[in-house]
Amino acid sequence: MMMMSMTTMATTASNANASCENFIGTRRRTRGGGGGGASTVMRWRNNNTSKKKKIIVTTRASSLPTSSSAATRWEEFGNEKIFHRTRMTTKIQQQQRSSSHRAGDGVVVRASSREELLEEIEKLKAENAKLKMLRAQLEDVGTDDKEEEEKEAEPTKTKTKKTTTKKRTVSGGALRTDPKSESEIEWPLPITTEGCPVGEEDKKPFWETRPKNDPDELFSLPDDEEGKATKKTSRPKKISHVTAELAPLAKVGGLGDVTQGLGRAMKMQGHDVQVILPFYQSLDANEIFDLKHVMDFDVPKGMKWDGENVVSMMKTSAYSGNIGGCDVILLKPHDDMNSNIFKGGAIYGGSYNELEAYLYFSRASLEFLDKSGRDPDVIHVHEWQTCAVPMLYWEEYHGKTSLNKAKIVMTIHNLDNTGECREEEFFATGVDGAKFNVIEKALDERTIGHNPERMCLMKGGVVYSNKVTTVSPTYAKETLDGNGGFMSQILKANQDKFSGILNGIDYQLWNPALDATLPANFAPGNKMTENKKLCKKYLQIGLGLDVDETKPLIVCISRLVPQKGIHLIERAVTQSENNGNQFVLLGSGHSDGGFKRMANEEFSQANSTNVRLMITYSDALSRLMYAAADFVLVPSMFEPCGLTQMIAMRYGALPIVRSTGGLADTVIDCDADGENGNGFVFYGADDQSLDECIQRANKTFKDRKKFHELQERVARVDYGWEASGNVYAELYESL
Ligand code: ADP
Repeated sequence: MMMMSMTTMATTASNANASCENFIGTRRRTRGGGGGGASTVMRWRNNNTSKKKKIIVTTRASSLPTSSSAATRWEEFGNEKIFHRTRMTTKIQQQQRSSSHRAGDGVVVRASSREELLEEIEKLKAENAKLKMLRAQLEDVGTDDKEEEEKEAEPTKTKTKKTTTKKRTVSGGALRTDPKSESEIEWPLPITTEGCPVGEEDKKPFWETRPKNDPDELFSLPDDEEGKATKKTSRPKKISHVTAELAPLAKVGGLGDVTQGLGRAMKMQGHDVQVILPFYQSLDANEIFDLKHVMDFDVPKGMKWDGENVVSMMKTSAYSGNIGGCDVILLKPHDDMNSNIFKGGAIYGGSYNELEAYLYFSRASLEFLDKSGRDPDVIHVHEWQTCAVPMLYWEEYHGKTSLNKAKIVMTIHNLDNTGECREEEFFATGVDGAKFNVIEKALDERTIGHNPERMCLMKGGVVYSNKVTTVSPTYAKETLDGNGGFMSQILKANQDKFSGILNGIDYQLWNPALDATLPANFAPGNKMTENKKLCKKYLQIGLGLDVDETKPLIVCISRLVPQKGIHLIERAVTQSENNGNQFVLLGSGHSDGGFKRMANEEFSQANSTNVRLMITYSDALSRLMYAAADFVLVPSMFEPCGLTQMIAMRYGALPIVRSTGGLADTVIDCDADGENGNGFVFYGADDQSLDECIQRANKTFKDRKKFHELQERVARVDYGWEASGNVYAELYESL
């Protein structure tokens, strides 16, 4: 192997100490007129004087009544590079902000030096402590009639208050939208086959025009007082996640939800959490809060050149920001690298070579951790895409770079894809794959004697990680019992460091009491039955189904791949038409062909008023469906954890699941256990098993009183991240 100097090598010297810039201050100033806009100017001192000084200007401007968005642009003047970021604030936010100005709880800061800033911080701390004390006193005093009247008169103000004080509560809680009557709801126009509202071909379908959840409100972590149930750590750790997905922006399935939920849970406990993510071209940069360029640095990248293996340097850019309440570092090849890595319109869209891209990303993450000087205590990697991190860490970084103390946790979210990799493909990391292609490291034993013998990245990840987890205790057991294919034997051999920790869902992000997408909000003990009915009617009207509350509505929200029990979903679709149920499917994936055909033929708008098949991806529609549903079907053939059944419960819908993996850990059959039941469970993978289970669910649905009690019960079940977060904290502590 030889080292080759390419154009990128020229940048090595300057990148060795990376173009770090020191943040030297923030100045925030209000601006007259323009709806009370305000600017924040951030200044960096540049170590390298030949470079442009960077200035970020954040401008707040009045905008739409309900949505929040941001716009960005760069401008260059002389030696200054100015990054303009306009945050459009909602009218509701403006009301909240102006009232907080009036109340004098200090959000306008005028400081031009470090000392002045520190002084302002101290003042704010004191005021915050006073505010907490007053809130505590208010809770002790309780709610009096006058306050109730005020709540009636000022719904926006009440909402804000309740949002911040009650969001961790599973039961009760104030509702964002509480229509007094059906006439207060703006009902949707039914969609046509093309997806647009009837007669309004140029308009968007109803779920896209619903109010959106305000990211500022949704993703802010509850403060100490509100998060009092969360166990605070006395030993904060620096945790760096390396992952291919992070909700809501970089989400394809549950992996994104889990990295977001776990990251936020650990942050709530007081840990310092960073998530390293590819900067996919498909991500909307305007949706990334506080996006900033951090540094450019070189990443070794192997390739074949004139028949020889050569290592060149891939100049890489790192950006920091916040996605969904998590502090992120986004990595991508520098713009002038002429590479297609992470390019294309979708996260896994097939526009780039995934294996090459994730191997590069794994190496880039380690280089970033080394060069940024973070020195984490824990590097937590997820799925095959980032399994090269533990392999490279122990062979190339530990003891040889600034990364000396980190231990590695690897989480297997799904054994469906384990990352097959040939020796020469692994060279994309800049390290010879031969080093790992041996039986005690990453060699896939099934390929012994084949040409070529190949590696399994997930095996490498297991072998090289200090702890390995999967996402539910039952899935862990199933894999050890031989249901994990080739990986079963690897996990068995590494059993001592392997465990199953149940995923949670983030109860702040999935909260039917405050979810802005819903036409009527609800919580257990608070308008659960009435307002769920309104949501059901809303969906029925919007999708052109019979508006009939007496028909049980089953929904299924899923990636459409064989794992999810495609034949059983199809069965439920066809049977619904026959047995008086309604069925709505929301999904996409490589097995969605049959559903597309059904959607255009027997279950088209013209042919069915009981079934609608939505072959697409939409977070907003999924929320409306969870809220409208009586039942959520999850008939998976295997399911490492599954989140949809937990979200269903949170939104007062009863899950109907096949007993496997995390579904077995979270759903208890109502008929088998009258006291604790929270759904309906079947075992076989055949039509009859499913049919019988749906019949039992329908029977319970007919007993209205019992069904409503069950809805209340499931909505109170706590599958939040708190419990699982504590288990992860113990695991990190044990490293
Ligand atoms: P998996 O990770 O195997 O896809 P999970 O049940 O763990 O399954 O997580 C699925 C997540 O993706 C849930 O948050 C679910 O609501 C969401 N989801 C799946 N398909 C869609 C879709 N078509 N549109 C919107 N959300 C979806």
